[in-house]
Amino acid sequence: MKFVFCFSLVLLISFIVPQQVSTKDLKIGNTTVSIQTTDYGSTKAIFINVHSNETTSVEATTDYLQDKSGTLIELKHDTTRLISFEFKGRMIQFDPNRIFTKKGRVTNLRLLNGKTPAGTEDEVDDFAEEVIDKIKKARIIIAVHNNTDGRPLSVNSFKEKYVNRDMDADDFILTTEKKIFDQLKKKKINAVLQTVKTSTDDGSLAIYCSKKKIPYINIEAQEGHKTEQLKMLNALTEIINQYTN
Ligand SMILES: [Zn+2]
Repeated sequence: MKFVFCFSLVLLISFIVPQQVSTKDLKIGNTTVSIQTTDYGSTKAIFINVHSNETTSVEATTDYLQDKSGTLIELKHDTTRLISFEFKGRMIQFDPNRIFTKKGRVTNLRLLNGKTPAGTEDEVDDFAEEVIDKIKKARIIIAVHNNTDGRPLSVNSFKEKYVNRDMDADDFILTTEKKIFDQLKKKKINAVLQTVKTSTDDGSLAIYCSKKKIPYINIEAQEGHKTEQLKMLNALTEIINQYTN
């Protein structure tokens, strides 16, 4: 009887708390960035939000994962796109989606800060290593982002693309896999194919995944387009399952 009670209790708890949340705090200069991991059942599908200000994407993904399996990783820092930290008396900024290759990190630091004190790169390298460690074993990575209405970013910003004129050009899916790109075209979803062959190494997660041959999808939606972003996520379920089952 005791056993049955305990067993029922465990079942009940696992029903009430389906997600496991863990947080790892990373120090960069005097800034703390938390990597928050939420497990919705265990698959090797990793959903990731790197830009803290793109909250619509997190809301849509959280809704999506309520009845799906996968892991959501969020980089939590300020409510800004860029991460800032103080180093040797200077404020340094970097874009957390430009850290995934050495070349990208160096270029991005120079672009945003000009010349930086010696050792700055090492700080960002250490941070990048921790983030990469969390995602490198994924079977598929699904990044979620939000953009603003119109310029600078839409499906039209890219060379290799499929455009459905009935969709908002700011809502689109970018992938490194030709097979996924073709499936998205069939579903009539705005789509972009981006690989190391079609783009320069900007240190983005797309370029990292393309180099490491990890299937990668990025769901971009205009800020506030939660319904549209959720619709794109739902349209991806069978595609994601091809890689996790
Ligand atoms: Zn973003």
